[in-house]
Parts: sequence; C-alpha cells; structure tokens
Amino acid sequence: MNKIIVAIDGHSSCGKSTMAKALAKTVGYVYVDTGAMYRVVTLYALRNRLIENGRIYEYALLQHITFGWVKVTFQLDPATKLPLACLNGEVVEDEIRGMEVSNHVSPIAALPFVRTFLVEQQQLMGQEKGIVMDGRDIGTVVFPQAELKIFVTATAEVRAQRRYDELIGKGEKNVSFDDILKNVQERDYIDSHREVAPLRPADDALILDNSQLTREQQNAWLLEKFNAVLSAQ
Ligand code: C5P
Repeated sequence: MNKIIVAIDGHSSCGKSTMAKALAKTVGYVYVDTGAMYRVVTLYALRNRLIENGRIYEYALLQHITFGWVKVTFQLDPATKLPLACLNGEVVEDEIRGMEVSNHVSPIAALPFVRTFLVEQQQLMGQEKGIVMDGRDIGTVVFPQAELKIFVTATAEVRAQRRYDELIGKGEKNVSFDDILKNVQERDYIDSHREVAPLRPADDALILDNSQLTREQQNAWLLEKFNAVLSAQ
C-alpha cells in the first residue's frame, strides 16, 4: 500500500503531539516531534552558556553547529516504542520539557541557521514517507508536498491548562498556571511573527480547533482524514 506523509502543525501545547503519536501508532508510521529538536538545540545553548540573561550568542551557536558539536537524534524507548530526544547521544526528554527550555526555545527557533540545520534532517527522515511529523512549519516548509496537512489550534487558556495538568502530573512542583499561560502566549506571538517559516496554516491544510474535543474524538477525526487520503491515492 502507498505510504504518505502526514504534516501536523499548530500552536504550542494544542495536543498536536498526542494526536500525531496516536495516529503513527495506529497506522504503523514513524513519528517525529520537531519541537523536541528545537528544544534539544536550546538545551545545548543553555548548558554551554550560549544564552545568558536572555541574550543569545548567535555567532558562537552557529560555530558549534557548524563544527558538528550539536547532535540531535532520537532513540526508541524500548518500553513505549516512542522516540526519545537525545543531545549528543544522551536522552534529554525530561529536561527539554521543563520551563527553562520552554522559556528560551522560540527565540532559538527563530534563528535561520538553526532552522536550516534541523529542516535538512527532518526532510531526510521523510524520504521514505510513512511518517507523521508535527511542528510549526511542516506543511509549509519541511514537506509542502505532504499528502495530508493538519493545522491544530485551541484557545490559549485551554492549552495552558493542558500543559499545567501535564507538568503537575509529571510531579513538577513550582509551576504556576499564569506563568504557563504567559509562556504559551509569548511563544504564539514569536512563532507567528518571525521572519523565517512563521507559524501559519498551509493553504491546503485542514483546520482543527480541538478546544471542545476529547482525545478520543480528535484521534478518530484524524484517522478518518488519514483513511480518506489513503483511499484516494
Ligand atoms: O512543539 P513544541 O511546543 O515542543 O515546540 C517548541 C518550540 O519550537 C515552539 O514554540 C517553536 O518556537 C519551535 N518550533 C518551530 N518549528 C517547529 C517545531 C517547533 O519553530 N517545526
């Protein structure tokens, strides 16, 4: 059977990854979370003091990337079979989800050389198709030829509440709903207003506002769209 590329874009914390993972599992496709890749580069920059007091040492980061010192890869979790993000071979899945990285990732993702570095790797991952990739520019830049493009959104409050519940569920202590809401709104703004690959739906994307949907409902919606595209191939 023909394989396709599924591109899922949308705002921060709108549940894209959850639905992308569920679809990939159901249909046996590879799942790639491109947000994790931008988060890994941000973690590298923080650990190496290439971001200090909100200032990014762009030229130094460019050099570190050019010299091949920043390796972004995924390892399959043997238990869940889901990809875990790695920085230079070290699994950093938990660290990249914390507020420190979340607060700095959007300015890092706005740097053109960071995008070129990661987009090239993402395009290689999709060469064989059979992939579900989520991010901000998958349908517009990474795979403009994707057979199925989805743009997901929900109100900022609903998204902040989901993120808050997730962090609390993971046992994070010092999280405040207001800080998370502020972070979600700031990231929306930076992601939509940057010069390179701003967040926007591709012209042929299907729009899904999932503010009122349960996980099961959104998974069913996506599977139906996937099956419709596949049967039309
Ligand atoms: O998806 P997630 O919220 O983990 O992404 C973290 C950040 O990475 C986003 O706020 C955005 O700034 C950036 N990003 C991006 N392009 C992508 C995926 C993520 O700019 N394809």
